Amino acid sequence: MINISKRSFFKGLGTIMLSAFSANINNNLLAHTEKNDDRTNSNFGKDKDALIVVDLQNDFCPGGTLAVKEGDTIVSNINEIQKKFNYVFYTQDWHPKDHISFSTNNKGKEVFSTIDVSYGKQVIWPPHCIFNTEGANFHKDLEVKHANAIIRKGFRKNIDSYSGFFENDKFTPTGLSGLLKSLKIERVFICGLALDFCVNYTAIDAKNIGFETIVIKGATLPVNIGNSVKNTLQGFKDMGIHYGELKNYI
Ligand SMILES: [Zn+2]
Repeated sequence: MINISKRSFFKGLGTIMLSAFSANINNNLLAHTEKNDDRTNSNFGKDKDALIVVDLQNDFCPGGTLAVKEGDTIVSNINEIQKKFNYVFYTQDWHPKDHISFSTNNKGKEVFSTIDVSYGKQVIWPPHCIFNTEGANFHKDLEVKHANAIIRKGFRKNIDSYSGFFENDKFTPTGLSGLLKSLKIERVFICGLALDFCVNYTAIDAKNIGFETIVIKGATLPVNIGNSVKNTLQGFKDMGIHYGELKNYI
């Protein structure tokens, strides 16, 4: 068995995935255009728009270790929504077993409490989305075939990553920003799980990067810890992040 250090494996993983997708992206887009598959094309030609589907994985759905209540009920809506976009990107929470955020690695700390880490406060979570486990897989009914690329995040042991753009140190990029910029995307539509964490942080970063940002109502649900939902929606207002149904924007 070849012995590759975890660090270099994970470091390489993101790069490999990105480069693989970069190489294939033109082919994928061409395939969508030529085959015209089962997309409704109501947004066809609007190549300045991208859809980001955040963390719609088994562990965030009922039965998972960090389940969002009724989290699976948005899957069919997202399947319909993504047909309207030419650019669809997925994020996938993807942690090593010894991840810094897991309760199992912070003895004596309650789930949902916080610890101080090098980049500030970190919420303690139950172990979830451990790479290559069923919990990390996308929901079985989600039509992942529409994805132009899948961005994995949180694969470094010592940094968590809520946002699809930057890890929780607000500095380490996932590569998604460069991908969208190179495609000359102007509007970013965000859906998935969970509204008050990964969707929220993805939206904040998207707006700060300079994209017009729309979080799609009816295609996202919250974890709901304390005032997290209220604070998230207030934050959207304060920052000029739109929160509404898709039909109001395309
Ligand atoms: Zn996570």
